[in-house]
Amino acid sequence: MHVDHTRSSSLRAHRILRLALIGVVMAAIFVADTTTRYEVAVAVFYTVVIFTSARVLRRRGLISLAAVCIVMTVISFVFTPHGDLEAGLINMGISIAAIVMIAFLILKAEAARTAAHDAQAQLMRIARVKSLEGLTTSIAHEVNQPLAAIVTSGNACQRWLAQDPPNLHKANQALDRILSDAGRASTIIARVRSLTKGAPPHKGEFDFNKAVLEIVAVSQTEMERNGTRLATELSPDLPPAFADRVQIQQVVGNLVLNAIEALASVPVSTRSIRITSDIKGDAIVFAVFDSGVGIPAGVYEHLFEAFWTSKQEGIGVGLSISRTIIEANGGQIWAEPGEGAGAVFRFSVPTTLQEKRE
Ligand code: ADP
Repeated sequence: MHVDHTRSSSLRAHRILRLALIGVVMAAIFVADTTTRYEVAVAVFYTVVIFTSARVLRRRGLISLAAVCIVMTVISFVFTPHGDLEAGLINMGISIAAIVMIAFLILKAEAARTAAHDAQAQLMRIARVKSLEGLTTSIAHEVNQPLAAIVTSGNACQRWLAQDPPNLHKANQALDRILSDAGRASTIIARVRSLTKGAPPHKGEFDFNKAVLEIVAVSQTEMERNGTRLATELSPDLPPAFADRVQIQQVVGNLVLNAIEALASVPVSTRSIRITSDIKGDAIVFAVFDSGVGIPAGVYEHLFEAFWTSKQEGIGVGLSISRTIIEANGGQIWAEPGEGAGAVFRFSVPTTLQEKRE
C-alpha cells in the first residue's frame, strides 16, 4: 500500500507540474499577444497549449481551457496599444477559429477512441459469453434425452415392482435401460468436456513480455477511464517462452479483466494493478496483482471450478478455462492473497530452456 501511495502522489505531482507549465506558457502567450502589434497573431499559439493539454484534461476541462484561451485572445486585442486595427480584428478571428477547430478535432478524436475501445471491450465479453452459450446449449440438448429416458424407465421399474407379485423380469429390463442411458449421458458429458478443452495448443517460441504488452494494451483505456494505475514490471532477461502464444494471451487478458472487475467496488484512489514477469528455474512466472476486493479465505479452492462465480453478471468459466489452457501448455496457475489488499494470480509457462533440456 505504501508503494501505491507514493506512486499516486507522484502521479498527482506530475499532473500539477504539467498544468502549472501550461499556465506559464499561456501567460507568456498572453503577454506577447498584448504587447506586440495587432499584425502579429501570437494568439494562434494557444492551439499548441490546447493540443498539449489534451492528455491531462478530460472533455469538460478541455472545453473550459479553449474558452479561457478565447477570452484571453479578446482581452489581449482590447489592450494591444498599437498596430493596424483591421489586421488585428482579422488575426483575432483567425486565432479564435483555430482554437475552436483544434478543440473540436481533439474532442472528436477522443470520442472515436472511446467508441473503438468500448467496441473492443464488448467484443471480449461477448467472446466469453458466446463460448458459454454454445456450451450450455449443447449440454442441455444432448444430455436431456438420456435423462428423460432414465425418468421414464425409473417410473416403469417402480410400477413393475409395485405389482403383486412384483414383475422382477420387467423391472430388471427397466433397470438395464436406466444403466445404459446413464452410460450414454456420461459419455456425452465426457465428450462435451473434451470439447471445452479446445484445440490442442500450437506451441512455439515467442517473446513473452511482448505478447503480454500486446494484450494489456487492449484494456489500457478501460483502466485509464476507471482511474486504475497500471504498473508493469516485466523482467528484461526472460528466455523465449515455449507455448501457444494466442492461448497465453487469452489467459493474460482474462486475469487482467478479472483484476479490473475486482477494483470496481474499491475507491478510485486505491485502484491499482501491477503485472510482473520473472524467471523461476526454467519457467517464466507471470503475475497480476490487484488492490481490489480480495478473495475470502474459504474461496480459494473454488476459484478455478467451472461456473463458480461471486458476480451477479458473472459466468464463472474464465478461470476454469484459464487453468485448462495453462495446464495444456505445461504450466500451472494459482491465486494468493494480495500484498496488503486485493489478490494475486500467477501462472507459469515453459521456456525454450526446458525444451532444450528434454
Ligand atoms: P467470472 O469472472 O465470470 O465470475 P471467473 O472464473 O473468471 O468467472 O472468476 C471466478 C470468481 O473468482 C469470480 O467471480 C471472483 O469471485 C473470483 N475472482 C477472480 N479474479 C479475482 C480477483 N482478481 N480478485 C478477487 N476475486 C477474483
